[in-house]
Amino acid sequence: MSSESVARRLALIRERVAEAALRKGRRPEEVKILGASKAQPPEKIREAVEAGLEILGENYVQEAEKKKTLLSDLPVSWHLIGYLQKNKARKALQLFDLIQTVDRPEIAQRLSRLAREMGRTLPVFIEVNLGGEETKAGIPPEKLLDLVRLVKDLPALDLRGLMTIPPYSPDPEDSRKFFRKLRELKEQIEDLYELTQPLELSMGMSHDYEVAVEEGATVIRIGTALFGPRPPKGGA
Ligand SMILES: *Cc1c(COP(=O)(O)O)cnc(C)c1O
Repeated sequence: MSSESVARRLALIRERVAEAALRKGRRPEEVKILGASKAQPPEKIREAVEAGLEILGENYVQEAEKKKTLLSDLPVSWHLIGYLQKNKARKALQLFDLIQTVDRPEIAQRLSRLAREMGRTLPVFIEVNLGGEETKAGIPPEKLLDLVRLVKDLPALDLRGLMTIPPYSPDPEDSRKFFRKLRELKEQIEDLYELTQPLELSMGMSHDYEVAVEEGATVIRIGTALFGPRPPKGGA
């Protein structure tokens, strides 16, 4: 697999996305592919964007900063998909077009205040922790509606969607109930606020994205299936 080109892998993922979407009567164009590019070298990222990738997702603010200096010419939007520390919020706002990992009131408030200072509106997703794993980021579902209300009241944040990372299991079918739950929460919020623009659902990774598309994903976050295995830390 790693000898295949990134462009070829992207084409293959698109085919599988289309098949999964069509199985459920969805339009394949509803699903955007985000390249989860942590630890991947800039040349591979460039290759993916040249092959038509439209969104990059980075986990670490500092790593994204380094890469952006090398890749600032690329026509691609940058999403933060990793945990955001309070003291990195300002830098994150300078680097990212959208933050997918808003997961607590304090970070929402801080991002809104900083965005306002910069005279911009920041599109965000709220990350939901559906597996109840205490070591993982994300707001627990029972606190989600309070956070939604806060984000909707903050002047410089624009709630665009929900994101989740289910507990890891090698069997992609194990992710299905979490994806379904996230879709139900999204529908609940859309009804509650009578939203005319549907919320995005960021869910599904290399091993379970087809299940995610079947359950309504509009953004799938693909790392290894697109770029190949991540090089070891400190290597390359
Ligand atoms: C690394 C990562 C991905 C992609 O993981 P793969 O299994 O390599 O596809 C997706 N989402 C997040 C938040 C990640 O950190």
